[in-house]
Amino acid sequence: MSEQTKTKTVSDFFGCNVFSDKVMRERLPKNVYKSVQKTRQLGIALDQDVADVVANAMKDWAVEKGATHYTHWFQPMTGVTAEKHDAFISPTPDGNVILEFSGKELVKGEPDASSFPSGGLRATFEARGYTAWDPTSCAFIKDNSLYIPTAFCSYTGEILDKKTPLLRSMEVVSEQALRILRLFGNTTATRVTTTVGPEQEYFLIDKKLYEEREDLILTGRTLFGAKAPKGQELEDHYFGNINQRVSDYMKDLDEELWKLGIYAKTKHNEVAPAQHELAPVFTTSNIAADHNQLTMEIMKKTALKHGLVCLLHEKPFAGVNGSGKHNNWSISANDGQNLLDPGDTPQDNMQFLTFLCAIIKAVDEYAPLLRLSAASAGNDHRLGANEAPPAVISMFIGSELEGVIDALENGTVYQSVGNQSFEIGVDALPNFPKDSTDRNRTSPFAFTGNKFEFRMLGSADSISCTNTILNTIVAEVLSEFADELEKADDFDSALRALLVKTIKEHKRVIFNGNGYSDEWLAEAEKRGLPNLVSTVDALPEYTNEKYVTMFEKFKVYTATEIESRTEILLENYSKVINIEALTMLDIAKKKIIPCCISYTKGICDAAASKNSIGVDSSVETQLASKLSSLTEGIVKETDTLDKKVIAAQGKEEGLEMAKFYREEVFAQMQTLRALVDETEMNVSEDAWPLPSYSKLLFTV
Ligand code: ADP
Ligand code: MG
Repeated sequence: MSEQTKTKTVSDFFGCNVFSDKVMRERLPKNVYKSVQKTRQLGIALDQDVADVVANAMKDWAVEKGATHYTHWFQPMTGVTAEKHDAFISPTPDGNVILEFSGKELVKGEPDASSFPSGGLRATFEARGYTAWDPTSCAFIKDNSLYIPTAFCSYTGEILDKKTPLLRSMEVVSEQALRILRLFGNTTATRVTTTVGPEQEYFLIDKKLYEEREDLILTGRTLFGAKAPKGQELEDHYFGNINQRVSDYMKDLDEELWKLGIYAKTKHNEVAPAQHELAPVFTTSNIAADHNQLTMEIMKKTALKHGLVCLLHEKPFAGVNGSGKHNNWSISANDGQNLLDPGDTPQDNMQFLTFLCAIIKAVDEYAPLLRLSAASAGNDHRLGANEAPPAVISMFIGSELEGVIDALENGTVYQSVGNQSFEIGVDALPNFPKDSTDRNRTSPFAFTGNKFEFRMLGSADSISCTNTILNTIVAEVLSEFADELEKADDFDSALRALLVKTIKEHKRVIFNGNGYSDEWLAEAEKRGLPNLVSTVDALPEYTNEKYVTMFEKFKVYTATEIESRTEILLENYSKVINIEALTMLDIAKKKIIPCCISYTKGICDAAASKNSIGVDSSVETQLASKLSSLTEGIVKETDTLDKKVIAAQGKEEGLEMAKFYREEVFAQMQTLRALVDETEMNVSEDAWPLPSYSKLLFTV
């Protein structure tokens, strides 16, 4: 426990490293504070004079807290965050320094953008990039630097990051949702906000073992490894008691996150051995995205302090569950109402039903976009593998809402089953009201009471892309609804007709059954729902004309930006598989094949010694023969993999190359792995060059 938090309660140190609203109110002159508030709430740009005052106050506050540097902190297309630190110092004529930080430095930065992925945009913007402060997300202190959350764009204005489109999408969904609210007579709400609470899964393993695994170090996942005798089949890790080392880690992690103003709330063990989860209290989408990036970073850093390594890869270990991220999403107005709250009588809540139907239509019409927002080489291991939703997008709305929707479609009166309750049968225990929004853990997009939970994301993903897409597709449908309803003479009947039509056309996307079953895949195909199995199937959908038109209409992305993003993601896919394949080759050639040869030699030597004194050596002979033929197979498959990796380089960059990596290189990696894993089971643990799954998964 740190000194700072030893005797204090959480509320004493929560957000102590954040230049929060409270700090601003204390430290800024009243008129300046008001301008900043306006900027934060209404998105009006700050004047230079105001920015100077804010920057100076930020610097003073940061310096008091020990900061020496500041950095614009942004989210390029690498998937991780980027930062470049400048000291506050400025030389004085007498050879000393004073500490300075101007409004200009706060509001805008000019990092060299040449080495960030730009997907072909680079040529047009001469490598220069700009970062611009997002004043809705608070600055904070970490590692003696003042961090300023920023958006990142090119010299010519093309966006190069994940934050800018998210902010744009939040604006558009707000505008369109307000149009709908006005139609329902709401005159008080002035802004609608999307909120997100991302649940984050992760693995913790011992650092010493990690350091012996080149595959984990270079790729984040084990490329080889025979299954341990025990996996997750006893289901004893899920919500199991938390061992001391992990508990100490979680406590430390919570404290670090709280100091940064992150609402870390829930922690528990997950299904796979060595797997855990952290969930924060939800907040505004862009802040949730910033916080999730920070959370992932702090998770990794804090682990090192405990001699652990935190793995955020979607599939670190074959044979047990991988890690995902559940994106809990809702939409609320600034007059206090959650627009996805059905209330006690959803059948009479036409405003709720309008938003619900809009989301149903959006998910059905734009399913490929949602699917591709979760597409990555890592996540390909999970989707459809009975541990995460299938690659088919469907929606779970629960039996009550389905009943309401059916009644609406058929023009009948919905018969509520009323409030039911369970009796546990023990007098001392309370009766439970039966939850009308029952749970379904197999659906990619599930209604959970007053929010939707999109369950496809991978654990390492940024949540920005998903939420940008989600906000934009919902905005699109709301705008279609508003266009139609605004011109109606009779709002009530026009609304009813619109909702009935929407339900008829889009109810095919609703599925309340088991999403992991094969029957569902067959049924989904019958319903015409797209099944984009892998990243290379999903990504080309991005540039579909219909989607490009929508993004351009709302100025969330231009066609060029979408093309560049598709290119970056495809390239990234190929690069990831390439690195994995090269790492496999490295380990196979330098560690596994030599180990097989020397281990087999040891057995042959033993056989020879036995033979020399006339003792039967058939056991040794059999084992040596078996290993010899396995080794021969490994050498052959390694050679084939080598050739395929070389052949991949000859493919045209983009889709063709990515497909080759998936169909040829990745497939060959599986073949090689199977042989190596079989061999591992025939070699002494002391001789095998990689720590076993048993050790990795069960020794923390
Ligand atoms: P689960 O039952 O899926 O494990 P958890 O309780 O772990 O759910 O997490 C639920 C998440 O949903 C939390 O992060 C919570 O803050 C978030 N959440 C709750 N209400 C909303 C909302 N209105 N908007 C967005 N997220 C929400
Ligand atoms: Mg969940």
